[in-house]
Amino acid sequence: MISVEMTEAEFVEQLLLLTTEGRPFIPSVYSLLDKLTAEEIAKTGRQFACHEGCSFCCHQMVVCTEIEWQAIQDYILAEMPFRARNELFKRAKRALPEWRHWLAQNEVKSQQDPFHVYKAWMGKPCVFLNEQGGCSIYPVRTIDCRSVASDVQCTKLVRQENAHRFAFPWHQWANNLILDEQRAKSFMGVTPLLHMMDVLMSKMGKR
Ligand code: SF4
Repeated sequence: MISVEMTEAEFVEQLLLLTTEGRPFIPSVYSLLDKLTAEEIAKTGRQFACHEGCSFCCHQMVVCTEIEWQAIQDYILAEMPFRARNELFKRAKRALPEWRHWLAQNEVKSQQDPFHVYKAWMGKPCVFLNEQGGCSIYPVRTIDCRSVASDVQCTKLVRQENAHRFAFPWHQWANNLILDEQRAKSFMGVTPLLHMMDVLMSKMGKR
């Protein structure tokens, strides 16, 4: 049974059950997370300052695993409304020249220092942030995006004392499972979302 009292082992069991029923891995993880978080908030009355349209933490370079990107790509190509997809491609077209230019000059340094890209992109909007201040891939946003929450309205991106990464234990469990699954599929590391978007645009002949 899905409950906020569940242990990590029970979380894994629930996930096995969902995936055995034929549901893909990443959507199963996200649905379990959403249920547990909603239940915890309903039970404890805990309130976060995060709200639709804030987008404060969407002004940096978020990264994701290959398996998370598969879910994002499927959503963009099969489920995203036409207008939103069109707007996304336009935003990506505007943002990608800067990314490519930066990458050409910083590829080696980025490989040596994984935080190099974070520092360079701090304060710049995520390509998926829409004109209304919402996430255009909200149902499939990454574990990185899902696991950050703040008790007070954020005013700065770094050292925000009231912002929590892995606000609930199941965020950490899910993150570990996603990384394990990524390794099991022989994919390595994480990649900036803007780079993934560049690859998709290139495949679609939209660069
Ligand atoms: S993917 Fe969505 S939630 Fe995550 S940083 Fe980008 S706009 Fe924000």
